[in-house]
Amino acid sequence: MKRPRIGVFKFTSCDGCQLSIMNLEEKFLDLLELFDIAYFRETTDRPLTGHFDISIVEGSISTAWQKNDIVDIRERSRYLITIGACATAGGLQALRNWGSITDYKNYIYPSPVIINVLSTSTPISEHVYVDYELWGCPINEKAFSETLISFLIGKKPGIPIYSLCMECKRMGLPCILVSKSEPCLGPVTRAGCGALCPYFQKPCYGCFGPKEDANIESLLKQFQNMGLTQKECILLLDKMNTYAYRKAKIERS
Ligand code: SF4
Ligand code: SF4
Ligand code: SF4
Repeated sequence: MKRPRIGVFKFTSCDGCQLSIMNLEEKFLDLLELFDIAYFRETTDRPLTGHFDISIVEGSISTAWQKNDIVDIRERSRYLITIGACATAGGLQALRNWGSITDYKNYIYPSPVIINVLSTSTPISEHVYVDYELWGCPINEKAFSETLISFLIGKKPGIPIYSLCMECKRMGLPCILVSKSEPCLGPVTRAGCGALCPYFQKPCYGCFGPKEDANIESLLKQFQNMGLTQKECILLLDKMNTYAYRKAKIERS
């Protein structure tokens, strides 16, 4: 059987999700038997040529050339999967969407005039059609390999869309929100990380992004009842999935 051709692409990101793929180690070698990884700049110097059965895209769109490149990648791809908070939600760099890019450039760079970027950082889905999104910062490695296998056998990937609380309760963990009155984003965050932070008695800060139809306003009201200011509540949302949480909050209100 001809192995499906895969391309792994990167836009604005820290490379952490690509590293998660390499962290699969022996399982990555198993994937190489099933798939032809024809383009993956992080690991090989094979040139970008031809079409791909599956394109895997890390990173957000934050420059003009990236807007053209993602259209080219989409045209070369049968399926396109985004990986990580940068590609699915614009990433931490989307904090610029709520401020002034000129101010940020002036604060950070000694020669801001040479920084040629867009005033926003946006998810891939705002530029081209995306077949499937894998959330997380970084992605869950097991979910990544399961997703690829699902595409191989023509099955819908079985990644959860319910809230992290379900996962947390199933593991029998004590609720930090209830028992310690700490603001946990679990009720509005999608499951998939194995309730990693609550397992270590830490509140969730939302690295897997908002679950479907998340009632963010209601959770923030609860946080305010616990003594947080409105500004502190918004700051809880303003991390790697800031764009997705704020959009979900606006869309539901
Ligand atoms: S989602 Fe997180 S780990 Fe992945 S590339 Fe973006 S910043 Fe890095
Ligand atoms: S600790 Fe957080 S994720 Fe777990 S049940 Fe409580 S609110 Fe939900
Ligand atoms: S508990 Fe929340 S912040 Fe922690 S890994 Fe899971 S989704 Fe990310």
